[in-house]
Amino acid sequence: MSLNIGVLAIQGDVNENISSTETALKELGISGTVNGVKTTEEISHLDGLIIPGGESTTIGQLSLVNRSLKTIKEKIENGMPVFGICAGMIILSKTANDRVVGKTNQPLLDLLDIKLERNSFGRQKESFEADICMNSINIPKFNGVFIRAPSISEAGPDVEVLAKFDNKIIAVKKQNIIATAFHPELTKDVSLHKYFVNLIKKSKN
Ligand code: GLN
Repeated sequence: MSLNIGVLAIQGDVNENISSTETALKELGISGTVNGVKTTEEISHLDGLIIPGGESTTIGQLSLVNRSLKTIKEKIENGMPVFGICAGMIILSKTANDRVVGKTNQPLLDLLDIKLERNSFGRQKESFEADICMNSINIPKFNGVFIRAPSISEAGPDVEVLAKFDNKIIAVKKQNIIATAFHPELTKDVSLHKYFVNLIKKSKN
């Protein structure tokens, strides 16, 4: 069995996620390919998808226009694992407000019942790194890179909180969906990408 993993390649941290996922596959000894994807055709063949960090309004709007957003939603609803990172977490959410400008009416997948605040820790120049603890998925220490990161103020009953920072929820899981406000692809540590690859492998069994 070979896993077909995609990274949504509209805008953002595409190559970094391809490379982290390839390393994760290699370290786990699991066979698979990782490619940037953007068309409905490419997405329809995937076993798992990463929606990378970048600019959620751009990624959402362009994937709405090329109709891939609809295919992504259907695939996830049918059980395909997805990993939403920063802007990807925003796109998976039900409602997103910007800390400064408020409601933005951007296209969202409405798959995670979370109330989310964009740019929750400030602007680009307020980017920072912090140690994050995700004990429930056996990752007790992870270097979280936060760049104009969102946070979650409320999570619905079916959403598991994986981590908090500064009293704000910054990593969640719901069945085959995981989402982090920080960027694991910008560190050498591939444990979150490995966790995601294992989720994909399990979904295929
Ligand atoms: N602040 C960005 C947004 O709202 C996300 C930033 C990121 O993905 N690093 O889309």
